Amino acid sequence: MSVVSVASLPTVAQQLQGKVRPSALLNVLSVWQGDITRLRADAIVNAANSSLLGGGGVDGAIHRAAGPSLLEECKALGGCPTGEVRITKGYNLAATYVYHTVGPVGEKPALLKSCYTNTLNALAQNQVRTVAFSSISTGVYGYPPQNAAKLVVETVKDWLQTEEHLQSVDRIIFCVFSERDRNIYEAVLMAAFE
Ligand code: ADP
Repeated sequence: MSVVSVASLPTVAQQLQGKVRPSALLNVLSVWQGDITRLRADAIVNAANSSLLGGGGVDGAIHRAAGPSLLEECKALGGCPTGEVRITKGYNLAATYVYHTVGPVGEKPALLKSCYTNTLNALAQNQVRTVAFSSISTGVYGYPPQNAAKLVVETVKDWLQTEEHLQSVDRIIFCVFSERDRNIYEAVLMAAFE
């Protein structure tokens, strides 16, 4: 399967040119529709479950693409509470690291916000400059995708308001799997930056 380098993807500023107000923040954001395991980024963010032992959805896809060494490393971590993040290598993935965050089951905004904020803080601390987030909790865990996208965009926008944070990243990708979710993200970004 062909690998996509995240640095080559258009930014939201380019994708939604004319539909959004110019903003330095939009130069570090992208929306990309596809399989997150294809992305060559410093890190990809997995929607894990609290056991960290793999599952369905994006978690299963990441484990399949990374190979069995990922599960071995995950076993040694002893799980992860909801809203927190744990870090492993990417093994056979094109991405160097996997950040595993555990989203809430159902619509629990404070916990979903924690997933993104804790992950962003850990990325900055580790000097990770390109990252792709999967849409945490919006599959089997049942968070309504539109509400999740609003919260995610607001959370990332707030986080990037600090100059230190803005300088710490080259690209944050919102990796969406369906066309419906791509439309949701584009509309939410337009509303947030109109
Ligand atoms: P959760 O249990 O946190 O809801 P899921 O994996 O069920 O996690 O779904 C999270 C999101 O990941 C959904 O939007 C789903 O469509 C998407 N998804 C599933 N497979 C992939 C993949 N290979 N790459 C990117 N996103 C994916």
